[in-house]
Amino acid sequence: MNAFEQQIKKTLMADRKCALENLEQLKSAGNYGLTVCEPPQYYYDWLERIDDTLERLENGDFNICRLCAGPIGEERLRSSPCADLCIECQKKLVVHRLIHKFNYAFSPR
Ligand SMILES: [Zn+2]
Repeated sequence: MNAFEQQIKKTLMADRKCALENLEQLKSAGNYGLTVCEPPQYYYDWLERIDDTLERLENGDFNICRLCAGPIGEERLRSSPCADLCIECQKKLVVHRLIHKFNYAFSPR
């Protein structure tokens, strides 16, 4: 793990702690007096993404795009550490999803 990855790992561990604390707060306080405003599922999803990213850090494929196997890029990972696609694949995926949505919206039911 290089210095950049160490730094990301630190950030993720802090995020993980924060997500767990928020979940605890949700469990103990019910829905009253919360500083937490997201539903529990939001934090479970977040934790899952963090754990997945931590695993990829350990395996050494943190900076590798899941689709094209090219580098994701440190700049992108710095702003979104849980990204597992390079910006090009992410764009393609977004377009793909939009087309899918469009087709779905306009297909006869
Ligand atoms: Zn890619």
